Amino acid sequence: MAQLSDDCFAFGGPMRSVEDAVAMIIDRLSPVDGVEVVPLTEADGRILARDLTSPLALPPFTNSAVDGYAVRSEDLPAGEARAFAIAGRMQAGAAASGPIPPGHAIRIFTGAPMPSGVDTVFMQEDVRLDDGRVVLPPGLKRGSNVRPAGEDVALGLTVLPAGRRLRPQDVAVAAALGLTGIEARRRVRVAVFSNGDEIVEPGMDRASSQLFDSNRFMLLAMLRRIGCEVTDLGILPDDRARIADILKREAGAHDLMLTSGGVSTGDADYVKAAIESVGSLVFWRMAIKPGRPVAMGVIEGTPFIGLPGNPVASFVTFAHVARPAVFALAGAEWRKPVGVQVRAAFTYRKKPGRLEYVRANLRRADDGAWEAIKFPREGAGLLSSLIDTDGLVELSEDATNIEPGRLVEFMAYASLL
Ligand code: AMP
Ligand code: MG
Repeated sequence: MAQLSDDCFAFGGPMRSVEDAVAMIIDRLSPVDGVEVVPLTEADGRILARDLTSPLALPPFTNSAVDGYAVRSEDLPAGEARAFAIAGRMQAGAAASGPIPPGHAIRIFTGAPMPSGVDTVFMQEDVRLDDGRVVLPPGLKRGSNVRPAGEDVALGLTVLPAGRRLRPQDVAVAAALGLTGIEARRRVRVAVFSNGDEIVEPGMDRASSQLFDSNRFMLLAMLRRIGCEVTDLGILPDDRARIADILKREAGAHDLMLTSGGVSTGDADYVKAAIESVGSLVFWRMAIKPGRPVAMGVIEGTPFIGLPGNPVASFVTFAHVARPAVFALAGAEWRKPVGVQVRAAFTYRKKPGRLEYVRANLRRADDGAWEAIKFPREGAGLLSSLIDTDGLVELSEDATNIEPGRLVEFMAYASLL
């Protein structure tokens, strides 16, 4: 399951920019290689292993886009309305019919195949019936209200590229092409643990100086949302040997080892030392706020990511660093989350040099424009700041103080999860 060699990252300097780190992670992590056929009902969210090429044109046959009356374009009334005898009736699902007699119309319904030679459909709302005949108005263009075979998807076209994380509409196109399953990469296997003497499993006895673990549940949920198969390794104490043991024991069975906490420079931060004792550390500081300590390492070929312990820092660095790494392992195309420009409705003091994420709500201003309101407090430990906001405002490395009215980039949580 080797994904990385120990020397494949050449990280110099004390702090890595997020952009560089992500580019390097994507470049160096290779996708898991198992491929499995997944039935369409299970395909949402899976990663397409190979380009999907259409074995069928869509629509497969030329058909009517409306309920109405179809004619040949040679017979289209010019100048004034004309009455047509009705040559027959085509419902959706009816077998395709041969030509109709010249000067006739045919009653046709949405989705029914167009008889040969017939190429224009009048909507039933636009016609009038008169003594068994249909009166068609002038002015309709040739080919109106018809869906030609292949107008949606041509035969042999690459409809979905390898690496696509399938969405419901992607599953729909595979079904429309008559496929019963898709070839997906196997799920990325990620092991997650928390660490810290002060961290306790929810539901267990908690000493007055301890906290219930929240990060692990957040990270497991975020990983599952992006299709990972997760192993929950629980909570480890602040003990270098114990952390090293579990890393060594579990690395071989997983594509990624992920933890939060213990990666700073405190006396009780043993994760870095543990990595160094069983593998190698690639980098451990990033120019991101919240969350400067983000460690990346390799244990016998398996990548390791250590996120900061403060819940908001864990959340932000998962979204912007761990998530692209998971995408790379999954063989999924990574695109930076979509941000939209909104107006800042806040003042913020920022030093240059770090990419910063500010928790914010969106509100519609009186002039109709969207603006971002910053959560009033900044602490990286405030779970409430994530719960009571809509997303993150990204402030670039070189940005300094933000004044109200300035355009900033807002990323909704939906685009980060
Ligand atoms: P550390 O990086 O280990 O110094 O942790 C930084 C802060 O995050 C400390 O206040 C920890 O108590 C807190 N923290 C660490 N791990 C978790 C966790 N799994 N759940 C909630 N808070 C945590
Ligand atoms: Mg700790």
